[in-house]
Amino acid sequence: MTTLSRFLSCLAIGTALIAPAAASDTFSLDHREVAAGVHALVGPTGGRTYDNHGLNANFGVIDTAEGAVLIDSGASRQGAQLLEAEATRLTGKPVRWVINTGVQDHRWLGNGYFRGKGVEVIALARTAEAQEKNALAQLDGLRPVLKERLDGTAPVTADRRLEGAHETLDLGGRLVEIHYFADAHFPGDVVVWLPQEGVAFAGDHVYVDRLLGILPQSNAESWLEAFQALVALEPKVIVPGHGAVTDLARAQADTGDYLAFIVSGVKALAEDMAGVDEAVAQLGDAPRFSRLANYDELHRGNVNRAYLRFESAE
Ligand SMILES: [Zn+2]
Repeated sequence: MTTLSRFLSCLAIGTALIAPAAASDTFSLDHREVAAGVHALVGPTGGRTYDNHGLNANFGVIDTAEGAVLIDSGASRQGAQLLEAEATRLTGKPVRWVINTGVQDHRWLGNGYFRGKGVEVIALARTAEAQEKNALAQLDGLRPVLKERLDGTAPVTADRRLEGAHETLDLGGRLVEIHYFADAHFPGDVVVWLPQEGVAFAGDHVYVDRLLGILPQSNAESWLEAFQALVALEPKVIVPGHGAVTDLARAQADTGDYLAFIVSGVKALAEDMAGVDEAVAQLGDAPRFSRLANYDELHRGNVNRAYLRFESAE
């Protein structure tokens, strides 16, 4: 028995004992209809907290003739229930499909709740494989924050795994495309694109209003390439992974320009073997981006981690 399957069987026992989200829970996401029957659920731009269920990110709901599509399933079983309630309230229909845009905890750890109800969970195979690699570390990271609210959360990946990088689905009469462009915030991150509406659910490819985070798993250089491929779709509306519903100009300013700053600056220093301390000394102040929330907490670490990544790739 693998560590993961042992862990899952423990959870299966625990799951039967879990009550639904407490009635006193007042957390809710902001909502905006971005095209007819297409909704963005906009979470807070700060960190994960007990009160926000780790839903410090954006999600999507698409109304179709045969039920609702939920874009991303939340960071926990309880978070999944909150998203389900929002989707049903907005569409008057049950959630029939879930699509995962990525690998960070809030993109997929609610999958198990939906799979348990017979909802079809859809992801690219490469996304699901990267989720499996990150599952235990993500649950360990969430436990001290969500405490008992994480109970019953099982790391379950998609039952419908799509092998390609670019897939087109007809879900209840809606044309829904899934595009993997390159490894970005995490390996396997994708964009969900509605070509008829011109709406891109960009997942963690795009952060606005707040600074993006370059994690050890992030590849800033290929993330920038993926961002440029998203731009080439010419979306009318972008639902970013984090921050307010936006357009290309704002996404370029808050994500594209920052990634370009990191890649051009840090890569040159890594090629010169300048050292990580020198990279942080030279690039650790970026006044252009200091208007973004979380800048003070994240920027210097972003330079540090991007440098180490470039250095190891040399
Ligand atoms: Zn995220």
